[in-house]
Amino acid sequence: MFSLALTFRFFTITRLFALLALVVLATACHTMPRLVRKNQEVHIATVNNNVCKRLEGKVVLYAIFVDSRHTNPWSTYDITSTLDSIRLGMDWLEAEAREIGVPLDITLDYHQTAKEVAPIAVNLPRKTLYNSLLVPNGVRGLDRWADKIGRAALQTFGPDTASITKTKIKPKDRERLLARLRDKHKTDNVALVYFINNYYSDEISLALHTGQDDTPEYAIVSYKQPSVIVHEFLHLFGALDLYVSPWDSKRKAQRRKAMAMKEFPNEIMAFAHRNLDDLEISSLTQYLIGWQPAMKEEHQRLIAGKRYRFAKY
Ligand SMILES: [Zn+2]
Repeated sequence: MFSLALTFRFFTITRLFALLALVVLATACHTMPRLVRKNQEVHIATVNNNVCKRLEGKVVLYAIFVDSRHTNPWSTYDITSTLDSIRLGMDWLEAEAREIGVPLDITLDYHQTAKEVAPIAVNLPRKTLYNSLLVPNGVRGLDRWADKIGRAALQTFGPDTASITKTKIKPKDRERLLARLRDKHKTDNVALVYFINNYYSDEISLALHTGQDDTPEYAIVSYKQPSVIVHEFLHLFGALDLYVSPWDSKRKAQRRKAMAMKEFPNEIMAFAHRNLDDLEISSLTQYLIGWQPAMKEEHQRLIAGKRYRFAKY
């Protein structure tokens, strides 16, 4: 009973961070419940939760290319080169998984009409993704944007027979789209990724709702680098940011993240803008995405001090 309450509290705090629109969660120490007894087992809210539970087995990345008033319109060349980047990133991930004996088969699927891969035009709430996020209720605005796109993407599917959409009273459009994709690909693990064609140099990419279970998680990617795509994709499967971001206001958190960057000098969750071939997935991130059953003790200490013991999965 106590552990349920604990998990709930964890979610609440995580949600607060989502509202602050983190790119996404800070390290676990931020989200650690304060009332936990020493050595109490804790669960990280992004692990085994929401749509993308564990990066294993059959997984689908569903890409939707979105045109917005102030982003670059997607040309065929842009789309083709981005699809190449996604494939490159997913091949890299499959190779990383293979190296440690985790079965992983990622299928790339994307929204297309009968004739072509067509972008869907829905304007972001504000000019840029960054500004859309920072306004009050920014996440809610982005959710509406994502749902509207989901509704348009659903048009390409036939009549709805997926059982999940019939059991809920009023599923969100993202949820309906995910149900159709799960049905089509016969897997639960569907990562929904929206791509915008950005030319602003200070634009962000993000993953939302990864620490919740009441609304489907999704990612929005602004750039075409395979490493950025993989970074956001990994968030959907539970990985946490390991770099010091402007949202890390607490000095303790900044210090721990700086230590993490030192401990994992090639970590994809810390250095997303580097070349993919120079990056790796640390054992800490491997635990968070379900590739390792337990978090190493020294990493538990690194991100949360001595007080907590992380659950085994
Ligand atoms: Zn991130």
